[in-house]
Amino acid sequence: MCGIIGYIGKRKVIPLLLQGLKRMEYRGYDSSGIALIHDQKFQLYKQKGRIEELEKVLNGTAGDASVGIGHTRWATHGEPSVLNAHPHTSSNGKIALIHNGIIENYSELRKALAKKGYKFQSQTDTETLVHLIQEFYEGDLVNAVLRALRRLEGTYGIAVLHVDEPDRIVVARKGSPLVVGIGEGENFIASDLAAIVEYTRDVIFLEDGELGTVTTDNFHHFNLEESVIKRKVTHIDFNLDQIEKGGYKHFMLKEIMEQPQTLENTMRGRALDDIGEVRLGGLIRRLDELKDAERIMLLACGTSYHSGLVGEYMIEEWARIPVEVEYASEFRYRNPIIPPNTVAIAISQSGETADTLAALREAQARNALGLSIVNTVGSTIARESEGGIYLHAGHEIGVASTKAFTSQVTVLALFALLLAQQRDFPTDKIKEILGELRRIPSLVERILKKDREIFEIAKIFSRASNFLYLARGPNFPVALEGALKLKEISYIHAEGYPAAEMKHGPIALIDRMMPVVFIATRDKTYKKVIANIEEVRSRGGTIIAVVNEDDEEIMELSDYVIRIPSCHPMLMPILTAIPLQLLAYHIANLLGRDVDKPRNLAKSVTVE
Ligand code: GLU
Repeated sequence: MCGIIGYIGKRKVIPLLLQGLKRMEYRGYDSSGIALIHDQKFQLYKQKGRIEELEKVLNGTAGDASVGIGHTRWATHGEPSVLNAHPHTSSNGKIALIHNGIIENYSELRKALAKKGYKFQSQTDTETLVHLIQEFYEGDLVNAVLRALRRLEGTYGIAVLHVDEPDRIVVARKGSPLVVGIGEGENFIASDLAAIVEYTRDVIFLEDGELGTVTTDNFHHFNLEESVIKRKVTHIDFNLDQIEKGGYKHFMLKEIMEQPQTLENTMRGRALDDIGEVRLGGLIRRLDELKDAERIMLLACGTSYHSGLVGEYMIEEWARIPVEVEYASEFRYRNPIIPPNTVAIAISQSGETADTLAALREAQARNALGLSIVNTVGSTIARESEGGIYLHAGHEIGVASTKAFTSQVTVLALFALLLAQQRDFPTDKIKEILGELRRIPSLVERILKKDREIFEIAKIFSRASNFLYLARGPNFPVALEGALKLKEISYIHAEGYPAAEMKHGPIALIDRMMPVVFIATRDKTYKKVIANIEEVRSRGGTIIAVVNEDDEEIMELSDYVIRIPSCHPMLMPILTAIPLQLLAYHIANLLGRDVDKPRNLAKSVTVE
């Protein structure tokens, strides 16, 4: 889900592509590459790591080519490497393709193409598409792309070149952004405005299911049904910084707001609610061991630890396997007991967290099966684990994790259901839960519309010096996470507690100056939480409650309520996390904090 740039016109294309790729560096990537057409052949350059590496091989050559495409890859299938970097070329060497997104049915396509004699160079899902286009090519690139895309399941933003049609770039989009920049006697394509705004501010956005042919002086735009589209040119007048942040003030807010899409990406092709089945490609080779698993250990730090705690509720409830969630830093030094048939799972957004990596190694050394749940493909934890599940949440830039948390919980729900499915948990129940999970992105969308309301609450409390977050059951870890978010970015002291524990200490802190955030959505502890709210109320505390949309009871007891839709109680943590992310964000922003880079914190904690 990373960067695409392309150009056709009169300029020397190499420097332009490199500059465009650099403009997209902020999105994160692991490798890059470009393809140019020169003398009816492709010139291909690819490198692992930073764009400077690509520049080094190009060694200042500007070349004569004036048509080309460039890509920064954020690996989803196959480790970051030169072979897996884009552009990918077809077996006959005549087609080059760059792709953002995920092709879900790539393994079926790959098998079918391999049978026909196509040779695969990489481990990517993308390479299947370039061979498929060759398979359909009969002298017209657009037609071949169209036919190939009709066979595809998944998401894509693509740009394709054919050496026999050097006067055009074919582009298409579904679920991954793509924009055409209109120039004079030249045209641009990009997945991100940042890559092209310095050349043109007149653009046409492609929508899902649309494709087009870009030539030096034309853009022919149509859809998969081949109807022609006439869309107006949009003039862009934001600056580069605003573009990078998707129009939001901070990356963190952008990442909070994109959760409907990231959650969709996390469960894409994995949650088959129609047949009541979970498919996790990264665990296929481990299914037998998972079937025999008698104990699960979740090893993590910070926000990932909180998602692990939610996972504990889900796995124990649905699969009935005992779960232990451990701070990785404690686990690694405490001579842990690991009985046979233990599965240890390291959870880390970056996949580089030093303590989590050490804990994974420790567990593996004691004969546990070591798995991982990480966001960054090819990261050390992903490589050292014996199987795993990627989040597919895209690069997270804000230091305080938001979208990675909700994707981790989603992945843990899928994992719990996979274990349950192996243990004869009824299929209709799995169907029902997966159906609920599929609704989550649209429910998150609804909660995000409450942004203004939450901002108003933030205004009232931005001067508080302490906060308490209370909840029970699977929402209890969200109380911890809500308090952590606030601490991290606003520097206000906050504590999360299981609501019933309040009586064993924190209740002493409660007075008029202490805002207490309750998660009080309806589940089996609802009545108990109401009792806890009463206890705070009778001691003069101010109550902010996250409740279900139709709740009237808590409305009476609280000073402020944030209403959210309901879904399966075990999945509620994905929803209840959202208003707490927004609350923390707005408070920090009102206080003028450096939200994306809070003091003293690092995004990837690679020291113990
Ligand atoms: N799924 C493709 C790959 O892993 C594309 C990744 C991207 O969007 O950068 O190569």
